[in-house]
Amino acid sequence: MPLVVQKFGGTSVADPEKIMAAARKAVRAQQAGNQVVVVVSAMGHNTDHLIDLAKQISETPPAREMDMLLSTGEQVSVALMAMAVDALGYKAVSLTGAQMGIRTDSSFTKARIRSIAADRIRRLLEEGNIVVAAGFQGIDEDFNITTLGRGGSDTTAVALAAVLHADACEIHTDVDGVYTTDPRQLPEARQLSKISYDEMLELSSLGAGVMHNRSIEFAKKYGVPIHVRSSFSDTRGTLIVADSESPSAPVCGAAMTRDEARITIRGVPDQPGKSFTIFRMLDQAKVTVDMIVQNVGLDERADISFTVPQEELKSALRVVEQAVAEVGALGFTSDDAVSKVSVVGLGMAKQTGVAQRMFRAMANAGINIQMITTSEIKISVLVDRPHALPALRAAHKEFALHCRPPDACQWDDLPRRTTTEADIEKLVHDLQKADMEQLTLSDITLSDDQARITLMGVPDAPGLAASVFEAVAAAGIFVDMIVQSCDGVAGETSISFTIPRNQLQPGRAVAEQLQQQHAVRSVECTDSIAKLSVSGIGLRSHTSVAIGIFEALAAANINVEMISTSELRVNVVVRSEDGQTAMECLQRRFADHLG
Ligand code: ADP
Ligand code: ASP
Ligand code: MG
Repeated sequence: MPLVVQKFGGTSVADPEKIMAAARKAVRAQQAGNQVVVVVSAMGHNTDHLIDLAKQISETPPAREMDMLLSTGEQVSVALMAMAVDALGYKAVSLTGAQMGIRTDSSFTKARIRSIAADRIRRLLEEGNIVVAAGFQGIDEDFNITTLGRGGSDTTAVALAAVLHADACEIHTDVDGVYTTDPRQLPEARQLSKISYDEMLELSSLGAGVMHNRSIEFAKKYGVPIHVRSSFSDTRGTLIVADSESPSAPVCGAAMTRDEARITIRGVPDQPGKSFTIFRMLDQAKVTVDMIVQNVGLDERADISFTVPQEELKSALRVVEQAVAEVGALGFTSDDAVSKVSVVGLGMAKQTGVAQRMFRAMANAGINIQMITTSEIKISVLVDRPHALPALRAAHKEFALHCRPPDACQWDDLPRRTTTEADIEKLVHDLQKADMEQLTLSDITLSDDQARITLMGVPDAPGLAASVFEAVAAAGIFVDMIVQSCDGVAGETSISFTIPRNQLQPGRAVAEQLQQQHAVRSVECTDSIAKLSVSGIGLRSHTSVAIGIFEALAAANINVEMISTSELRVNVVVRSEDGQTAMECLQRRFADHLG
């Protein structure tokens, strides 16, 4: 019999009427001939209220007790939902994470799922029950209750769909699908008929709160098609599957992380191991770091800038103060009023000129870009917080995200999983061994056909990045990685980018022209770089990858010149003579994770 997992988020179970409506949906699905597992979140803003309550008792509540408290929200919902199904005259059993055998590691408040024992759920389904599962929670080895991180019920739903080999995983929420950006921020946002796992993973980790990013890691890893739809209507919703909505559109969506903070560590001695020391210290303090940009510095010193969530700034600065002393840096600056705006699309990997359009859109809106990082399928810019919404709007408009691309696919039937019997056997085997959420890498590659150009001391004014990349594109040069950092020197910034090595000559000519036109302090061009790429799933949330790269290269005395991170790939640039050794170090370092 087909099996459907239906997840209902907080707003969708906010009051008794909504719980009854959700229960009716579940019963309807069962009546249509499916076995049904319902995953529920805490009612309304219950999780927020519980967090407030804890904060009234203590500024720093122990993480274990936080999880004990937060898990109660979902426990209330499952009981009420099972009662609702019962009141409609059908059979239901509610289960907590522990009762379902959801085993996690012990990282309280952001635990990762290790394994799920599906037998009990299967038995209850066979007996004709609708199984009502508590989202967001599990237990560790010592039976401590753990939670998966805010928004984690999506991950419970997709993980259950994977283990139970469900035919469909429906995410019922308070919007009727995935939009090109948050429709509450931009009313002109358009609902997508379909979005690829890679794009959704990237968008959700860059601020699109509609799906928990780790749920998409599961979906991609185990081939679970997701159907995001409204709890309150029967409109068709959005599919999250392997392919994109449009084969040609460079960008499928935009996202914003409003409350970011920027830290710049000035004058870090430009030697192997310094970045590793800094980021290991931040990682140990559980600070979430993003947008790492390192300047090729003056006087054998570099400036390293990165962003952290604004709420983590205080704890990050405590670590940074120690790190400055530890690595012998000159000092640090920070800004707690910045936001990150990003555009994402599989199509941009195949097209040129996407980055410069993004930068020009910012310039035309009069918005200064403080930092830039790019990867194959995303471009992120850091702007002053008052500019965040205008920047999101400008990016959305530039890529005409409000219009359906002419070659966009039609909304077709929800694809059933296409796995074979052998796939299923392997899947079930994989899921039962420890560590479902274990880091999975697909490959590590070395490319030594690139060159790097750095413009140092670029005046920090709106339109500079746009002018630079328009000039580079006009010369027919294909740009790969771009980073713009926030310099220690006020009013200045530096821009580095990589290009094919055989285009270094024209690249140099353009850079020198730009130097004169825009009073750039100096230009540095080098053809002796190598780029290493570590590819896999969920590489941003698995912070161990970036840290592991820094560590392995530092141990081999290799300096990292540039880094870019995305959910799909971490790229690092090193000197070309170090390329081969670096490759071997990384292969050894990640041997256990390569499939
Ligand atoms: P739930 O409680 O059902 O899990 P969430 O609040 O976690 O719901 O997620 C739904 C919300 O996500 C929407 O109300 C919307 O404001 C927000 N959102 C952010 N980005 C997007 C997007 N790209 N598409 C749709 N909704 C989005
Ligand atoms: N109740 C949890 C939260 O609010 C989990 C979830 O809703 O997905 O974050
Ligand atoms: Mg959610």
